[in-house]
Amino acid sequence: LFESSKKFSEFKTDANGLVPCIAQDYKTGEVLMLAYMNEESYNKTIETGRMTYYSRSRNELWTKGDTSGHYQFVKSLTIDCDNDTILAKVSQVGAACHTGNRSCFFTPLVSKEYNDTNPLTVFSDVYNIIMDRKKNPKEGSYTNYLFDKGIDKILKKVGEECTEVVIAAKNPDPEEMKYEISDLLYHLMVLMADRGTTWEDITKELAERR
Ligand code: AMP
Ligand code: ZN
Ligand code: ZN
Ligand code: ZN
Repeated sequence: LFESSKKFSEFKTDANGLVPCIAQDYKTGEVLMLAYMNEESYNKTIETGRMTYYSRSRNELWTKGDTSGHYQFVKSLTIDCDNDTILAKVSQVGAACHTGNRSCFFTPLVSKEYNDTNPLTVFSDVYNIIMDRKKNPKEGSYTNYLFDKGIDKILKKVGEECTEVVIAAKNPDPEEMKYEISDLLYHLMVLMADRGTTWEDITKELAERR
């Protein structure tokens, strides 16, 4: 199915002939799991397009998903700078972890509070909250106020916010534009939610234009 630019024999293995492989969701970049590959599992992965590892506990070749149905379809395989770790971007069916969790990494050890500023997750989180308001209206919600008023009100707000962005852009204080672009993006998302357009529709369209 795939042709590898390097042979497994060019990789730096451990004493048992294994190379660790990190599996990552090809869309979100979420780290799903870590497992090991030997030469046979690497070659099988490339031939079948399904992630196949070597199970150190069972001492056998292991195609992820063969018993659970939770297959990992290969989108890309990359070797790191010193040839000792494989990164796999995969399309994950169901859960990567045998506990049923999508990712194996769900047990916190240490952490500092931080805001997630990844545009992909922030936009989709806000969009999901807007969709949730549409389905489960909440008392006093501005989003529900907009949905209740209807499409003409939403379009009027989008128009207004566009104008405010234009005015703010002329303002020497960059803070203004930050607020107004945020307002505009929020109202655009309400419009998208109202019309049934998803972020996936938009990002797919933009990606195809590159
Ligand atoms: P599966 O490959 O999903 O059909 O699962 C088969 C078996 O592999 C499970 O019963 C687990 O013992 C093991 N397994 C599955 N996923 C993982 C994982 N992410 N990490 C470690 N072991 C796993
Ligand atoms: Zn390395
Ligand atoms: Zn796990
Ligand atoms: Zn505004």
